This record gives sequence, C-alpha cells and structure tokens, in this order.
Amino acid sequence: MTTSTKSVVVFSQNYLPLNRINFRRAVTLLAMGKAEPIIFFEDTTFKEIRSPSIVIQVPPVIRLYQSAERPWKIPPVSRKEILRRDEHQCQYCGNRKQLTIDHIIPRSRGGKHIWNNVVIACADCNSRKGNKTPEEAKMTLLNKPKAPKHPTIAFAEQFWQEQQLVTDN
Ligand SMILES: [Zn+2]
Repeated sequence: MTTSTKSVVVFSQNYLPLNRINFRRAVTLLAMGKAEPIIFFEDTTFKEIRSPSIVIQVPPVIRLYQSAERPWKIPPVSRKEILRRDEHQCQYCGNRKQLTIDHIIPRSRGGKHIWNNVVIACADCNSRKGNKTPEEAKMTLLNKPKAPKHPTIAFAEQFWQEQQLVTDN
C-alpha cells in the first residue's frame, strides 16, 4: 500500500461517513488531535506509524472531533454537471460517445431546463428522439433523472452499501 491511497474513511462528529482520505492526511489529523480512531468492526487492523517521539495507530475509520460541515447547494443545470450525474453515458442506449443534452419533454413543447427534465443522450438517440417524448419515440430511460445528491449523502449511501456487501459475503 502506498501512502497516497485513499484508504481511510472519515466520519463526522455525528458519526456520518463523510469521505475517504489518504493515509498521510489521516496521520496528520490524528497527530494534531483533530480526529480519533473509531473501532467499527471487530477485525479492525491498525497501521502503525512510529517516530522517535510518537506512535500513531491508524485505523481504517477515524472520526473528526469538530464539525466539518460545508455549505452545499444543488448545482445549477450545466453540461458539466449533467455529464457527471449521468456518468458520461447516454441515458437511452448507454453509448459514451458524441454526447449531447436531451430535454426529455422537448423545450419546444414547454419542457424546462431543470434537473428532472435533462439527460445525457448520444447524438444518434437525440436525433432519433427528435421533438418527441420518450414514450412517443418508444425509447426508455436507463435512470430516472434527479437533481444530484449532497456529496456526503451520496458517499454515506455508497459506504453503507459497500459494508453491506462485505457482511453479506
Ligand atoms: Zn444513445
């Protein structure tokens, strides 16, 4: 393992998984007294860092002593943010090339430029769909478009899902 691997999960003061940081950053937070180890699973393995004056045990999960809440707003609807939400994938056929923005209810028919009316579509799907709704064009969306989630909530959902997978196996 290298020290740049994002191997340590940081929990907030209120025990919400926030993000994943690299080992070096975790050592700094622990050494500065800004975080504490949390023993979360019985088989937790610590990694030990020694210097002449201190020994630091770094577990895979640490918890911040202070709140690190940062204000967050739903990002405005932009090509960059839609690409990120839709993971650079056409939401009709899964193609990753020649990506455009499709308004599910076409703008010419009153469709708005809002999160649940925009998706990434490849040029082929977009021209096939034309001025129709997906139903009229007999095309199915891979995902129901929604506004992006708060990054902490998205991370927390993913984190617990991964733990679930570990436990299930
Ligand atoms: Zn497509």
